[in-house]
Amino acid sequence: MMNCKEATQLLSQGQERTLTLVERLGLKLHLLICKGCRASERHFDFLRTAARRIGSPEP
Ligand SMILES: [Zn+2]
Repeated sequence: MMNCKEATQLLSQGQERTLTLVERLGLKLHLLICKGCRASERHFDFLRTAARRIGSPEP
């Protein structure tokens, strides 16, 4: 089981590259049990959505 530091690193790396299946599964499992990292995931999701919106404006 990965710890919070590893999970956060994967969340961050997921912005720049596609995570492997093993990484994604481990991350998913950690997010199921860890409220703190779920909050981090939402934060990263928000950043990604915001970045995408700036990169390609919606029609
Ligand atoms: Zn965690």
